[in-house]
Amino acid sequence: MDTNEHELPADAKALPPLTAGTLYLVATPIGNLEDITLRALRTLRECDAIAAEDTRHTGVLLKHYGIRKPMLSYHAFNEARRSEEILARLQRGEKVALVSDAGSPGISDPGERVVRAARAAGLRVESVPGPCALVAALTASGLPTEEFHFIGFLPHKSGQRRNQLEALKSFSGTLVLYESPYRIEKLLGELGEVFPDRVVVLARELTKRFEEFLRGKPVELAAATKGRSLKGEFVVLIAPAA
Ligand code: SAM
Repeated sequence: MDTNEHELPADAKALPPLTAGTLYLVATPIGNLEDITLRALRTLRECDAIAAEDTRHTGVLLKHYGIRKPMLSYHAFNEARRSEEILARLQRGEKVALVSDAGSPGISDPGERVVRAARAAGLRVESVPGPCALVAALTASGLPTEEFHFIGFLPHKSGQRRNQLEALKSFSGTLVLYESPYRIEKLLGELGEVFPDRVVVLARELTKRFEEFLRGKPVELAAATKGRSLKGEFVVLIAPAA
């Protein structure tokens, strides 16, 4: 009988086990609990420990999928200390999964530090790819995807924000940034000054019930959203100059 090499094995036990001493970067849903890969679930089930940005938050996901696993917290404020602990576990041969609250660890989320340390120590790091708000927003925005620049979060201070936006004017592709709902109005004002003629897309609540894409020049978006308390999470995309 011909076998199709792309077909998933019917028996998951036929899949190779996780590799000892490996750090697995596991992407988790950005809103919709169904957005998790089979491999992510198996990695979470079969690892020795899960390092999570917020153990309570990840606990909800694990409970949903009936996974029970020792967890340790790994967040912005204990990254240095916890990185050492994670490295020690990997050196003992443990398989450690790293997850953030949502999406891909290391993208505007803790992860980079422990990955760098693990690589420097000659340890294995594997990516278990999946949801990422940046990719979800960019690919569905209708803006050019061939060349883009991801900024992450802008600094909080007005002067620094302004300088960074000014410096991005010469970039020829799509600009993508993350923003908190509390600063969206302020950001639209700033974009109105720095990029008055560019099309901006607000990708809101991706993968969730109230997902929407709002599109227009910064001043039009500011008018359209005025008086409407914009809640939820946002990816902001700025089209290249016409
Ligand atoms: N690691 C995540 C990823 O892979 O996208 C990003 C984490 S960062 C702390 C959180 C920011 O990502 C939010 O403030 C928002 O800008 C964006 N984001 C996350 N989930 C989102 C969603 N469902 N819809 C729109 N933006 C989202």
